[in-house]
Parts: sequence; structure tokens; C-alpha cells
Amino acid sequence: MRERDEPRTHGRLPPETALSLLSNEVRAAVLWQLSEARGGGGPPPLLSFSELKALAAPDVDSSRFNYHLQQLVGPYVERVDDGDAWGEASRPVPGMAGDPEEGYQLTPEGTTLIRTVRAWSAEGEIDRELAIDHDCDYCGTGLTARYESAILAVQCPGCEYLYDYNLTPPGVLEGADDGFADVDDGDVLDRAAAYNRAIRLAFARGVCPYCGNGVDAEFQDPETTGYPRGDRRAALIRRGCSHCGNKDNLTVGELLLREPRLVSFCLDHGLDVTRTPIWGIEFAATDRHTTVRSTDPWAVAVDVTFADDRLTLVVDESLTVVEAGE
Ligand SMILES: [Zn+2]
Ligand SMILES: [Zn+2]
Repeated sequence: MRERDEPRTHGRLPPETALSLLSNEVRAAVLWQLSEARGGGGPPPLLSFSELKALAAPDVDSSRFNYHLQQLVGPYVERVDDGDAWGEASRPVPGMAGDPEEGYQLTPEGTTLIRTVRAWSAEGEIDRELAIDHDCDYCGTGLTARYESAILAVQCPGCEYLYDYNLTPPGVLEGADDGFADVDDGDVLDRAAAYNRAIRLAFARGVCPYCGNGVDAEFQDPETTGYPRGDRRAALIRRGCSHCGNKDNLTVGELLLREPRLVSFCLDHGLDVTRTPIWGIEFAATDRHTTVRSTDPWAVAVDVTFADDRLTLVVDESLTVVEAGE
């Protein structure tokens, strides 16, 4: 059994110390090979010392390899003893037993670290124009969509209004088995829309999508944010995480996509806002139906209308819906 007071996770090491442990190519190879062995399914496999050395550093002598491996054991790598096949950190159910095995595997923190590197890695040409079938709500020009340098941008070439601008991992361009070339533009946009919706709704609900901390909030005058055509925006909400530094800007309409009464109202009128890309939801992508009622303190109304039916939601400075009427 491991000593209980032995540092095992990032949470028990200063972040700089955890990062400094990575500054060696043998250690990088160990983490990568344990990740390669994991593949896409099943529990994390165990690699024996000799298996891991053969994959990660066959030309390094055993004592030097062992030194570097042991530097990773704790925060990133877990040694599993006979009879403790899952290891303590990654056992899905406390007390769950597996087939007795011995070896090394990634800890959840090690898995997350490598997964982050993998998520932002891609093969081949990844800058790409994407065909999009949606016209600008302001000027009627067909929108353009482009994936470039890990940013998905949806914009109107006619009036320059920016419909979407999100850091998006290149996996949205890649099929499960097909590689980049064969993925249809519509599928790329659907996947990017779904990915970015999850991120933005976490922010809308006040949770950092990367680290789970709470986020703060602040109304901003759109003219001060640097967005193109700030004159067409009424208000932007900046939400930021002081723990990991993640931040995002939301329209008030996007914020309200978290509200069950709005989701239900739209669905009753044939618009499923849980599946429609945000750039296709006029009251969320633009401020054409948003009215600033006051700025000190902030109170902002969004009108959602279908023919003769209207739902109006008013949000106060704390981002609480304080008024709703149909
Ligand atoms: Zn336009
Ligand atoms: Zn965070």
C-alpha cells in the first residue's frame, strides 16, 4: 500500500513543482506511451516496467529509466501492485477488485494532461473554409465560416457582424475513422456548434467549463470590447474564472439559453434551441431583440417573438431573471 502522506496528485504538489517534473524527454515518452496503450476504451491498461521501458526508452539504461519513471509516480503515474489491479486513484468504485496485475498506468491527472495535449494536436492542413447556410439577420448576406488557428469564426462578409468566435479544438474537423478530408462541412459545423454550446452554457450557468470553479460576471459596454460592429450590440456579459484564467463573453440572449421557460417557449413554437447552432438563433446571436433598460444598475430585456406570441425576460446585474412575461 502506498503511504497516505506521499504526494500523489497535482492537488498535493505546488503547480510549479508538478510542471517541473515534465522537463525531461524520458518522462515525456513514459507519459505518451502509457497514453498510447490506453487507446479509446476499457480501463487503463497496466504496462510492466520492462514493457514500458521497451516502448518509451529502449536505449536508456534501466537505473536511469527507473529514476525518471519514479519522478512521475505520484502526480502523473501510478504503480499498481499485485492484488490492487485498479490502483487507488483510478478505481471506479471503492473496494472494486480486478484481476491481480502489476505495472504502471496514468493517474487521472496524468490522463487529463495528455488528453489536453492530444485534444489540441492534429494532422494535416487544418485551416479550412466551411460552407454555411445562414443569412445575416442584419443585412441578409450569406454568412461565412472559417476554422483557422484553432478559432472557429462565423461572420457576415457584408456588414462584418461577428456571429461566433470560439477557441475550438481541431477534432471537430476530423471524422472518427476518416481523417480530415472526408468530413462534410455541415458535420464540422454541427460538431463545433455542439462543442461550443457546452462551453458557453457552462459559463451561462456560472461554472468554469475547464476547472469547475465559479465564475464572476460583469456587464460591458460592447463598444469597449473590440468586437467588430460593436455599434450593433446592446450589452455583453464577461464571465471569468479567477482560478484558471478562462473567460468568455456572452450576449444576454445566450445567457438565457439556460432558462427552461425560454427553451420551452421556443420549442412550443417549433424552435429547438438545444440543437440549433447559436449563430442560427437570432435573439442569442444578435442583440436585435435586446433592450438595455438601465446601466446603473444594469437591467437588460430580451424579447423572443413568434408571430403574435412574445416572451420577455429581464436580467438584472446579478444575472438573475427578475421579470418574465408572455
Ligand atoms: Zn450582415
Ligand atoms: Zn476555471
